[in-house]
Amino acid sequence: MPDTTLPNSWDARARAHSFFGFTDLPSIEARGTVVVTHGEGPYVIDTEGRRYLDANSGLWNMIAGFDDLDLIRAAQDQYAKFPGYHAFFGRMADTTVELSEKLAAVAPFDGAKTFYTNSGSEANDTMVKMLWFLHGAEGRPQRRKILTRLNAYHGVTAVSASMTGKPYNSVFGLPLPGFVHLTCPHYWREGGEGESEAQFTARLAAELEEVIAREGADTIAGFFAEPVQGAGGVIPPSEGYFDAILPILRAHDIPVIADEVITGFGRTGEMWGCQTYGFTPDAIIASKALTAGYFPMGAVILGPELGDRLQRATDAIEEFPHGFTASGHPVGCAVALKAIELVEGGLLDNVRRLTPAFEAGLARLAEHEHIGEWRGKGLMGALEAVKDKATKTPWDGDLSVSERIANTCTDHGLICRPLGQSIVLCPPFITTDDQMDEMFDKLGSALDEVFAGLS
Ligand SMILES: *Cc1c(COP(=O)(O)O)cnc(C)c1O
Repeated sequence: MPDTTLPNSWDARARAHSFFGFTDLPSIEARGTVVVTHGEGPYVIDTEGRRYLDANSGLWNMIAGFDDLDLIRAAQDQYAKFPGYHAFFGRMADTTVELSEKLAAVAPFDGAKTFYTNSGSEANDTMVKMLWFLHGAEGRPQRRKILTRLNAYHGVTAVSASMTGKPYNSVFGLPLPGFVHLTCPHYWREGGEGESEAQFTARLAAELEEVIAREGADTIAGFFAEPVQGAGGVIPPSEGYFDAILPILRAHDIPVIADEVITGFGRTGEMWGCQTYGFTPDAIIASKALTAGYFPMGAVILGPELGDRLQRATDAIEEFPHGFTASGHPVGCAVALKAIELVEGGLLDNVRRLTPAFEAGLARLAEHEHIGEWRGKGLMGALEAVKDKATKTPWDGDLSVSERIANTCTDHGLICRPLGQSIVLCPPFITTDDQMDEMFDKLGSALDEVFAGLS
C-alpha cells in the first residue's frame, strides 16, 4: 500500500479536490483511492505502478480494452478533420449522418432514426420526454406514467433515477410521482416457495396486468426494460419473461423501450440483448459500448413506427424543442463508427467464443459453499454470496461481504465489482483465454480467503 498520509500523494490529491460519486467512503478512508494512469489491453495501471485486470471493462463499456489503436486513430483523425460540432438548426456533421446510417443498418428493426445524447441517463431522459411529447400531440396528454422494474438501472438524472428501481434514490426524494416499479424478474431470489420458474413468470405477467388495470392503461406512457438487468446485479429475466409480458403491453398500446446501454453491441452474444431474448422493441437506448468507452455518447434509436409518429407530431409544431450542445459530436460519431466496425469485425465473435469458458468459470466458483447462485448471459455474469446455500440466507449486511471480496481481488490485481451481495464480472471482449483463467483464479482465491475469515 502506498503511504496515503503523504500530503502530495495521488491519493491525497484525489481526495482534496475531487468529489466522489458511487464510492464507499469508509473503504477509501481505510484503503486509499486508486488513481489510474493508463491501460494495456484489459489491464489498467495505477500511479504506484500496480497492474489490475479490469474484469468490469471499466464500467461495462471498454469492450475493446484500454489501448485500442484503431479507436484512438479514429478519434485523432476526426479531431484533425473537424473537432466538434452540434446538431441544431438543421446542421449536422457528415460523420453524424454516417453513424445514423450505420445504426440504422445494425438496429434490430428497419428504418431506424437516431437522436444523440452524451450519456445513457440523458438518452433515457430524452426518450421519456419524447413519449410525453408524443402522447400529448396525439391527444392523450394523460399518458405520462413510466413503468420499469425494481432493481432496474436507467441512470442518474432526475427522470432516469426515478426509473431506476434502487432504494438509494430516496436520499434525493426520488422517484418522482408517476414512476411505477414492477417486480424484478429474478427467479432464484424472488420465486416463491415451491413456485416453478414458469409459474413465477406467469405471476409477473399477471402483476403487470393488475398494475395496468390499477393505474389505467390510458395513463401509461411507456415501459422500459434492460434485456438483462446490469447494475441490479446481472439479472437475466426468468424463462419466457419477455414472451409473457410483451403481448400485454402491446394489447394496451404501451410502447416498449429496450434499455440496451449495457447489452447493446454484443455483450450478450448477439448485437442486441433484445435479439438474445427474441423480441423487437419500439426503440433502443444505447450508450457505454456504443463508443467502446472512448468518448461519452448516448443514443435514442427509434424504431419505424415510433419514429414516424414522433416525426408527424414534430411536423405539426415544426420543431422538437430538445437537444444537447454536444449531441452527435463528430469525434464521438467517428469513434462509434469504428467501435461498431470492431464489434462486427471480430469482437462479437470473441464474445461467443469466450462465453462457454466464462460460464464454466462462474459455474466452477458457484460450487463454493458460500456462493448461492451464478447467473449471466454472454460476457456478463455474477456470483451471489450467501451465508447458507440451502436457505439462500444472505450475510449480515454489516459484514460487507461483496466489498471484502472485491477489495481482496483488488489487492491481488483484479478489479471486479460488488453489487449487493454479488460480485459482477463483465470482461472486455478482447480478453484472452489466459486472462480469463487469471480472472477466475484470482477471484477464486479471494473467495477462499474472505469466506475462511468469516466462518
Ligand atoms: C449505465 C447505464 C445507464 C446510464 O448511463 P450513463 O452514461 O451512466 O448516464 C442507463 N441504463 C443502463 C442499463 C446502464 O447500465
